[in-house]
Amino acid sequence: MRLLLVEDDALLGDGIRAGLMLAAYAVDWARTGPEALRALFDHDYDACVLDLGLPGADGLEVLRQLRRHDGQARQQLPVLILTARDTPDDKISGLDSGADDYLVKPFDLGELQARLRALLRRAGGDARPFFSHAGVELDPAARRVTRDGEEIALSAREYALLLDFLSHPRHVRTRAQLEASLYAWGQEVDSNALEVHIHHLRKKLGAEFIRTVRGLGYQLTSPD
Ligand code: CA
Repeated sequence: MRLLLVEDDALLGDGIRAGLMLAAYAVDWARTGPEALRALFDHDYDACVLDLGLPGADGLEVLRQLRRHDGQARQQLPVLILTARDTPDDKISGLDSGADDYLVKPFDLGELQARLRALLRRAGGDARPFFSHAGVELDPAARRVTRDGEEIALSAREYALLLDFLSHPRHVRTRAQLEASLYAWGQEVDSNALEVHIHHLRKKLGAEFIRTVRGLGYQLTSPD
């Protein structure tokens, strides 16, 4: 899954990005309002963590422009405001401007991650705190994967890839979509890495678990 982090404080942004990457998200980091808007309109994200006090354009203005966008993906993108503005009026205007959640600095990284997991599962149309498909279960809070109850060890990339598939269980995922969920801006994409990760996932989860859709991409095999 790919997240946009919007934060102008270098030290804080660096810490948040590192924490989210450890949770297997690909994280792009925008440091100004205009940079955030460019990123949001040029790329598809699964969620956005949005600071309010930003150079160039306030976070609330970024949010309003995002929600006014014609595209459904932009209108529905889960947005969590992360700010030092802590009055009830600030929270009300943030939520009423289109935010889905609001967290006040200083904050706990574990709480930010839990709130993102909640937003992402709601956005995926499922309130269950784990993913389950054809005997494979993924618990994002514990970062744990089992197959028929047996724990399976996955590399960080394999885990991120499986999380992407399980978050879109009925969709064909294109190479571009899968690579976007694995690599943030500036990270080198090895041209055959995706095939290698899929190969490893099939070895660990069963050859039939992911099917190739010729000319389109990959998809979870329907259990029935
Ligand atoms: Ca700020």
